[in-house]
Amino acid sequence: MDSGAPQYDVAIIGAGAAGLMAAIRAAEIGRSVVLIEKNRRPGVKILMSGGTRCNLTNARGLRNLRMVSGEIDPAYDPREALGARSIQAAFGDNGKFLGPALKAFSVESTVSFFENEGVPTYVEGNGKIFPVSNKASDVLDALLNRLAHTSAKVLTRAPVSNIAATVTGFEIAIPEGVVRATRVVIAVGGLSFPGSGTTGDGYAMAKHFGHTIVETRPALVPLQVTADWVPGLRGLTIPDLIASIRDANGTSLLARREAMLFAHFGLTGPAILDVSRAIARHNGPELLDLALDFLPDLKAEVLDATIQAEARSGKRNVVTFLPEAIPKRLGEAILQACGIPFSRTGPELSRDERRRLVGGLKGLRLPVSGTLGFGKAEVTSGGVTLDEVDPNTGQSRLQPGLYFAGEVLDLDGLIGGYNFQAAWSLGWLVGSQ
Ligand SMILES: Cc1cc2nc3c(=O)[nH]c(=O)nc-3n(C[C@H](O)[C@H](O)[C@H](O)COP(=O)(O)OP(=O)(O)OC[C@H]3O[C@@H](n4cnc5c(N)ncnc54)[C@H](O)[C@@H]3O)c2cc1C
Repeated sequence: MDSGAPQYDVAIIGAGAAGLMAAIRAAEIGRSVVLIEKNRRPGVKILMSGGTRCNLTNARGLRNLRMVSGEIDPAYDPREALGARSIQAAFGDNGKFLGPALKAFSVESTVSFFENEGVPTYVEGNGKIFPVSNKASDVLDALLNRLAHTSAKVLTRAPVSNIAATVTGFEIAIPEGVVRATRVVIAVGGLSFPGSGTTGDGYAMAKHFGHTIVETRPALVPLQVTADWVPGLRGLTIPDLIASIRDANGTSLLARREAMLFAHFGLTGPAILDVSRAIARHNGPELLDLALDFLPDLKAEVLDATIQAEARSGKRNVVTFLPEAIPKRLGEAILQACGIPFSRTGPELSRDERRRLVGGLKGLRLPVSGTLGFGKAEVTSGGVTLDEVDPNTGQSRLQPGLYFAGEVLDLDGLIGGYNFQAAWSLGWLVGSQ
């Protein structure tokens, strides 16, 4: 790395999901590659992902399920698969940017990449694809093994502090000196889980070349709510409910049917993490509400009639005749939230109380007081604005030779393996240039 050191064809900054894939692809098509990582080892976030199981992609993007060599949960409905469109839809409006990347490296490509590297995969009922071993380390090992078969050089413990354009390319400053490369890929991730190395360094690098950064906010993040009974239910999982974020007019901004978990700080689980994106993208001053439908398959009128019939059928405590899907602890908490005493028996339940109870079971409103922030967010909403990057190549429209891949861009998807799919596809795309 002295002044006489060779100039690489490509320097990739950040050895996460996107950077590793970019390095593999670029080296395999014959480029001289250096992959520069600030941590002691590459892929730390991959190891943490999916509760250390790594949900590496989603079957909804896969038209040919036979590529998956492990089990397909019978609850998964392959009619939900729309190919690349399913992946793009998980990113909202910004998902269109992913079109060319998904063409270059599709969900099929992801599954066959890992299956060919000795990582058989399986599909859960909700379409999430995991390694059969349920070990995120197998996913990372597959990437590292494939990379080890190339001539790419990997520098670890090498935080990049600056990138400067030169006449022949770029000079990249690391503590040991300067690395030279004709092209640079910024794949340093966002701001979520900063302890894993992602401290938002890419935004200053991008700004240095004139790029605009869309305001960054934590997304896929647990929510804090102003309801004092919530911490009392910590540890309770509701396997199937609809969570939705409502504005002051009651309009639903985002809804999701999935599992939810009560925690000491508030609420988490896939349904909550997914709808937290609406909080991340909300700009208005007013507080938003979370509405919870604990009985998504039961119409309010049917529930009301059922409770009315049960109430008439004997002097039993109301909580004892709530539908089976409502655990006793939750039933009691909903009564409390609806201002109905625990001691209320069926015959004592007034019409107004019954209506409030149906409202609580079908659309309990909890004001959202905040999120757990970047420290506990799975992804970052915002980042390098997509208008300034060519979706066909990942190249900056402002600085020739500069590329972006992964979460550093203004892209954040739902829970379900979508974020990794974007990282694999964008990494492959920029590595192909
Ligand atoms: C707890 C958790 C669980 C998750 N689970 C899933 C899941 O199961 N499925 C899914 O699809 N998504 C999941 N995600 C999201 C997913 O991990 C990310 O979207 C994905 O890793 C983004 O890939 P990336 O390559 O852009 O960034 P990252 O994987 O974050 O990699 C960026 C790399 O750049 C390095 N770096 C940063 N700054 C510098 C610098 N200045 N110099 C050198 N190197 C630098 C970092 O150390 C890091 O290694 C999870 C996220 C978290 C936090």
